[in-house]
Amino acid sequence: MTRYSEFAPSQRIIMTPGPVEAEPRVLRALSYPILGQFDPEFTDLMNDTMSMLRELFQTRNHWAFPIDGTSRSGIEAMLASIIEPADKVLIPIFGRFGYLLQEICERYGAEVVTMEKPWGTVFDQEEIAAVIRIEQPAIVAIVHGETSTGRIQPLNQLGAVCRENGALLVVDAVATIGGVAVETDAWMLDAVIGGTQKCLSIPSGMAPITYNERVESKIAKRKRIERGLRQPGEILTEESILKPIASNYLDLSQLQDYWGPARLNHHTEMTSMLYALREGVRIVLQEGLDARFQRHKLHEQALVAGIQAMGLTLYGESECKLPVVTCVQIPPETDGESVRSMLLGTFGIEIASSFGPLKGQIWRVGTMGYSCRQTNVLHFLGAFEAVLIRHGLRIPPGRSVQAALNCYETPVSLGVETL
Ligand SMILES: *Cc1c(COP(=O)(O)O)cnc(C)c1O
Repeated sequence: MTRYSEFAPSQRIIMTPGPVEAEPRVLRALSYPILGQFDPEFTDLMNDTMSMLRELFQTRNHWAFPIDGTSRSGIEAMLASIIEPADKVLIPIFGRFGYLLQEICERYGAEVVTMEKPWGTVFDQEEIAAVIRIEQPAIVAIVHGETSTGRIQPLNQLGAVCRENGALLVVDAVATIGGVAVETDAWMLDAVIGGTQKCLSIPSGMAPITYNERVESKIAKRKRIERGLRQPGEILTEESILKPIASNYLDLSQLQDYWGPARLNHHTEMTSMLYALREGVRIVLQEGLDARFQRHKLHEQALVAGIQAMGLTLYGESECKLPVVTCVQIPPETDGESVRSMLLGTFGIEIASSFGPLKGQIWRVGTMGYSCRQTNVLHFLGAFEAVLIRHGLRIPPGRSVQAALNCYETPVSLGVETL
């Protein structure tokens, strides 16, 4: 007899910036039988997944496939594969995940140049463009939806500027893919990294990425360097020859050979996670990207109306609010962690705290993917109000849920963001 009982997690309502509740059909896909990695049914599944990911990323890029690992493995694979020694990388930072990009780039030997904005705001694209023109970086790496501050950075003009200045534009769209428009081709993004456990409502463990020929040719050049080959007229510096792509697991040139027709074995593809990814993205495409973005805006609107009806204040500049994360200022004298633990323990609802300069200052409420639905928003608002009253806040009872209900009855114009 074992000392350990069967693990039986509680049913939660997860209103955080991830991981969020998984789509039930995705959880079912995780239980499908295993296929061998070169079984034709499995290689068909790989091809299908690539074509679905192209639609998700709104791109005609050939390369769109998942990296096996959490979202940061996708970010690291992309940067590790394109950063050549002493490449200059420009990183505009407006929250915690900008620092992650910086750290990864430094580890792979880049000369990193950063520019920063106060948390709660984003950059004017022209500010970034001006620095690109001066610094002439080889790569610009930037976050689209910054979950740490709940802000979204407009990107639609940066791609053209990068192209004019010979830079590759790499975008962390981990928090936005499947919840907010990410228009890879229209915005001329060279490489985009998504995440699964946020707006796609697939468990954490894969990082879908896409990249274009500009990125592919840089990877191809590095691959030739690795093998000591050169194309006519190509100059391979000694320094480059000494430094091939520094990771084996995250080497996109090898992963391409696995996802492409050569099917050269790299690692063993994550069978069950790929079933989950395919099913999750299928559900997203079946809902329709525009309908899905509208749904995220609708529930954001109801959530915000409910929070404001309690007399609470939102954090950050409103023009750049990320629709899928709502940051609420913790009222003075209120113990934010005690509120969170009562919400979880008594109501089974999870919201997030924050880090760094915002620790103890804000709560972050996610409305992502399958978690982003009317019953969740209404249950959360009712419970949040009760918990805050329990914590001694003078909140007019009942108004919050009514304000959200009003929103659902007559939503005000819901234009889909194109930035
Ligand atoms: C969540 C998140 C990540 C990291 O994702 P992991 O899956 O935990 O590796 C990176 N960037 C952004 C913007 C995120 O929100």
